[in-house]
Order: sequence, then structure tokens, then C-alpha cells
Amino acid sequence: MANLLLPLLLAPAFLRLARMNSVMWFRRDLRLHDNPALAAADSHGEKTACMVMIDSALWPTWGAAKQAYLVDSLSSLDASLDGKLIVRHGDPIEEVLSVAKAANATKVFCAADFTTPGIERDQKVKDVLAANGIEFEIVGSNYAVAPGRVNKPDGTPYKVYTPFYKNWLVHGWRAPLEMNLSRNWISDVESDGLPVVQMPAGMERSVAGEAAALERFDAFLKTGVKSYKDLRDRADVDGTSRLSVALKWGEIHPRTILAELGESEGEETFRKEIAWREFYADVLFHNPHTVTEYLNPAFANMEYNSGELADQHFDAWKQGKTGYPFVDAGMRQLLQEGWMHNRVRMVVASFFVKDLHLEWQQGAAWFFELLKDADVASNQHGWQWTAGCGTDASPYFRIFNPITQGLKFDPNGKYVRKYIPELRHIDGAAVHEPWDQGDGYANGYAKRIVDHATELDESLRRYSEIKK
Ligand SMILES: Cc1cc2nc3c(=O)[nH]c(=O)nc-3n(C[C@H](O)[C@H](O)[C@H](O)COP(=O)(O)OP(=O)(O)OC[C@H]3O[C@@H](n4cnc5c(N)ncnc54)[C@H](O)[C@@H]3O)c2cc1C
Repeated sequence: MANLLLPLLLAPAFLRLARMNSVMWFRRDLRLHDNPALAAADSHGEKTACMVMIDSALWPTWGAAKQAYLVDSLSSLDASLDGKLIVRHGDPIEEVLSVAKAANATKVFCAADFTTPGIERDQKVKDVLAANGIEFEIVGSNYAVAPGRVNKPDGTPYKVYTPFYKNWLVHGWRAPLEMNLSRNWISDVESDGLPVVQMPAGMERSVAGEAAALERFDAFLKTGVKSYKDLRDRADVDGTSRLSVALKWGEIHPRTILAELGESEGEETFRKEIAWREFYADVLFHNPHTVTEYLNPAFANMEYNSGELADQHFDAWKQGKTGYPFVDAGMRQLLQEGWMHNRVRMVVASFFVKDLHLEWQQGAAWFFELLKDADVASNQHGWQWTAGCGTDASPYFRIFNPITQGLKFDPNGKYVRKYIPELRHIDGAAVHEPWDQGDGYANGYAKRIVDHATELDESLRRYSEIKK
């Protein structure tokens, strides 16, 4: 009888032993609200080790503003986790396993990464964990509707935004997840700590983290969204949500945003912009080669400039010294803040490809290095759209005039004066045309490196060559 009872008596202890720990690997989901991967990790094990990677292959390629933002966001995440965030520097393939072993974990959880390098890395992590008897599970993603889910009735992917948007609405998305975390974080696993980032002189550190993102969204809902439709293109006004950085790092989930949006014109326009982010992720998912290659391959055969003069032009563009005030203000905003207004992104990208005749990939790489919101899908396809080789329905004829765009979207010249000290002596809209002012160049502002009218014709000539 005693022999028969023994297994029953031992069972609870056995079950307790079997219930091992988990690892939550934070990547682009630096938040505690509405985080399905974190909820799954928390409910899987007795205790959860929360980790993040400073990937040694990526980190050195980023500009200071971008690095500083991530460090500040991780610092905020660490505070929400009661100081228990485990930071590892190096190669995720080795470090995730090392944390999982040290935490005595049976399973590692994280949210999906849809980029090709991300998918490949995750497969390697999965294999190495499996070889050590540890499971790897991907739960949720950084999108309301994961890439690949919204397709045409015949099952093929959309190539144009508007029908994608309509079907994306029909597909719909889940409500934000209620979180009931046990908060049993593991604290005795070695952490390398957060890197220290010095901001270059003149560059301001912005407020990062989940709480700041939720606050920003709340403020935008209360005041900004009403006028969003009318003001979103104005570079001189704070008329957009500025949530791109928070969305990039997953400090807020798009579901959380969408759940709060009603049917007013401003809210409808805003929902459409959130959908652009999802559309580009979908386009990249189906066309992974377009990180570097032309979506419309005909454009690879177009004539582009190269050589010493082209390098000088590239440099002038990067430094905000092309002589076109609206372009230069945008490029200096990027240098100073690691962010740029959407309208100006389009204008500087168009200038790069259609006035300087340089290939979009070079410009996109510069953006990627500096933008705090750098997102491979939105960036590469924002560039391809503007270059005319992407998803724009009326492509190459959309050549932005850098002067009229400035006059329209910075009508009093406030944006230009903010970023270009050499032009602050010129009042009003005249700042967009310093060549017409007697003292326009008095403070050393750059002369125009090309003539827009000439380059417009040249651009159309090159385009007609590939159309033949
Ligand atoms: C050449 C070029 C490069 C770009 N690179 C990036 C990038 O690396 N990362 C990035 O997040 N956005 C990129 N964009 C899109 C857009 O410029 C930014 O998302 C926007 O300026 C962010 O400001 P906001 O949050 O105030 O936008 P809001 O106007 O408040 O829009 C709300 C959100 O919608 C999304 N969104 C808005 N417009 C677009 C768009 N055109 N494409 C995709 N998503 C959009 C963003 O997530 C944004 O935060 C790029 C656009 C261009 C033309």
C-alpha cells in the first residue's frame, strides 16, 4: 500500500520541479502593456528572465541620437521591471542561450520579426536553443495585422495601398490584451548593463519609454488629432503625432492606438497613416529583396550619377548645404534630432533622386543610420515611393519642387529659420528664396549646387530612356 501511495505523495513536488522558468526576449516591443509575448512568458514558468540584446553587429552602425533613444527607452523598461532587465552585449545566438541556461528556463518567448535578417537570426537562435533542450516561441508582432495576412481575393498580395487599406479594415485586429503579470522577474542572471551614449553638441535627448509614448498619444488624442488632416503636411507646425519612434521600438502597439480612434476626419486620416506602416511591412514581407533592390526593376537600368561631383553632392545633401532652404532645413533636422517631418522626408528624397540623380539606396542608408524611427519597411519603401520605383501609382512624374514645397508647407519660413541659422536674418516666406534677397548670402549660406529646372528636364530625359 505504501508503495502505491508514494508516487501520489511525490507528485506535487515533481510538478513543482517541472514548472521551470521562462525568458522574455524584448526586441521591438519595449513595453509592459498589451504585450502578448510577455504575457505568454510570464504565464509559462515559475519565474521570468527579461532580457534585451545590444547586438554588436548593429549597434556601431547607428547614429548617436538613435543609440541614445534606445538606451533611454531600455532604461525606462528596466524601471518598469523593477530594475530586473538583463542586458547582454554581443551576438544574440550565443547570449539568448546563455541567459536561458543561467535562468534555468525551458522556453524563450519573443515577438515576431519579419525582416529577412531577423527571420534568419531567429531560426539560428531556435536551433541552438533546441540543441540544448530549450523551446523558442514567437508570440504576436509589432503590427495590428501581421504582414502576409491581408491578400487579394485570389490570395496574391496587394501592390497598391488603397485596396490594401480597404481589405485591412475588413480583416480587422484584436483588442489590446489585458495584462495580469505575476511580476516574478529573475534577478540573479548576469547583466552587462546599458551602454553609455554621449550626445554630440547641439543634439537634444528626447524622452523615451512606454509611459512617455502613452502620454504623447493621449495628448495627441485630446488636441492634435482634430486638426491632423489639415496640419499633418505643415513642417512648421507640431501637427503630427510624433509616435513613429515609439511605434518603431514598440513602446506602444498600433492596436492600442487603433482601439482609441473614432470616425472623425482627423481620426480616419490618422488610421490611414497607421495603415501605411502596415502596408509597407506587407510589401517588404512579400518582396524581401527590395531592402536593396528596385521594386520596379526597370529603374535599376536608369542612368545615375557617380564620381567625384556626385560624392560632393551627396555630402552637401547630408550636411544640409544644397542651397535649397527647405531641403537643407530637413537634413539639418535629421542631423540634430534624428527625426524629420514626413513632408520634408519626401522633398529631400525626391531632391536626392530627381535633382542629384543619385540612387535611392544611398539616401536610405543615411536615413537609416540617423533616424530614431528607422524602420526598414517604411524607410526603404518611403524612398522607393518617392524615387518612383516603388508603390506610388503615379510615379516618376511626381517631382517635388523644393521651393514651392517650402512655400506651401512652411509658409512663413519658420521651419527653415529654426534649422538654418545662416538664414535667420530673412523674414517671412522670402527665406525660401535667398537668391532673391540682396543680403541672402550675407551669413554664409550655401549657393545652390544644382538648378532645379535643369535637373527636372534631365530627370525626365533619363526616365524616358528606361521607358523605351
Ligand atoms: C523617404 C521616407 C523615409 C521614411 N522612413 C521612415 C522610417 O524609417 N520609419 C518610419 O516610421 N517612417 C518613415 N517614413 C514615414 C513617415 O515619414 C514617418 O512615419 C512620419 O514622419 C513619422 O512622424 P509621426 O509619427 O509624427 O507621423 P504621423 O503623421 O503622426 O503618423 C502616425 C504614424 O503612422 C505611420 N506613418 C505615417 N506616415 C507614414 C508613411 N508615409 N509610411 C509609413 N508609415 C507612416 C508612422 O508609424 C507614424 O508614426 C518615411 C517616409 C519617407 C518619405
